[in-house]
Amino acid sequence: MLGSYHNHPGYCDGSGSIEDYIEAARAAGLVAVGVSSHAPVPFACDWTMTVERFAQYVADVRAAQTAWRGRFPVWLGVEIDYLDPALVPNGAAFQREVVLGGGLDYAVASLHFVGRDPEGRPWAVDESDESFARQAATVYCGDVRRLVEDYYGTLERLTSWARTLPVPVVVGHLDKVKQWNVGERYFSESASWYREAVERVLAAIRAAGVPIEVNTSGLRRPIGAPYPGEWIMRRCRELGIPVVVGADAHQPGDVAAGFVAARELLAAVGYRETLVLGAAGWETVPL
Ligand SMILES: [Zn+2]
Ligand SMILES: [Zn+2]
Repeated sequence: MLGSYHNHPGYCDGSGSIEDYIEAARAAGLVAVGVSSHAPVPFACDWTMTVERFAQYVADVRAAQTAWRGRFPVWLGVEIDYLDPALVPNGAAFQREVVLGGGLDYAVASLHFVGRDPEGRPWAVDESDESFARQAATVYCGDVRRLVEDYYGTLERLTSWARTLPVPVVVGHLDKVKQWNVGERYFSESASWYREAVERVLAAIRAAGVPIEVNTSGLRRPIGAPYPGEWIMRRCRELGIPVVVGADAHQPGDVAAGFVAARELLAAVGYRETLVLGAAGWETVPL
């Protein structure tokens, strides 16, 4: 009963056509597919859609949705960035008008931008290992803990913002900050400060009443674990936070990548249910 709602066809940094993702989702035995290209942002960024591209994207997804109506559910989403007002003062207004104004079926609310890089541009936490090391060394003067706490502090603010969006929302890749932490070379997830930072976010998510995503893309990277990992998923289960499985596919063949592992992880920590999109928003279905 799994759908796949975190997919990037070739409108942002992903590849493949919308039709390719639909065919791949059907072949994988999924019950629905949603596409979630990176929404435009009001500054230069080479991995998000431009405003012009976004208009084409919306038209193309709506056309595919119509073509498949009654045969296979296709949903129009975006992966939308939390843009902290201190970082991008016009961010929320831009998103309201340009991204959310035309109507979407859902959104993956994600945090990539945490503060500024040494050149003063919004810095993305997942850009590259080199970029992470440089950010920690320069902007944070070697204090990785402060960088990570900034990430989770911003994620707390994302949660309050996400609940105000006029579409069904899922919080994307919660612990993305660990992407380059292979072998825990930057920080230990067992450290009390790390656990406490995560716990504060989980409390905020629970209070906001929004689901989180178990994102399998980390399984395809050197970190070799989903976002979030097992101990956080166990805490989500204990807190009663609903979960949506997402692949974060950037090519059609990954539309269900890692879903068997994700299902096993969710079952192991006690989840019996997941969510799929329906006309009225997220609906609970057996795992
Ligand atoms: Zn993302
Ligand atoms: Zn993504």
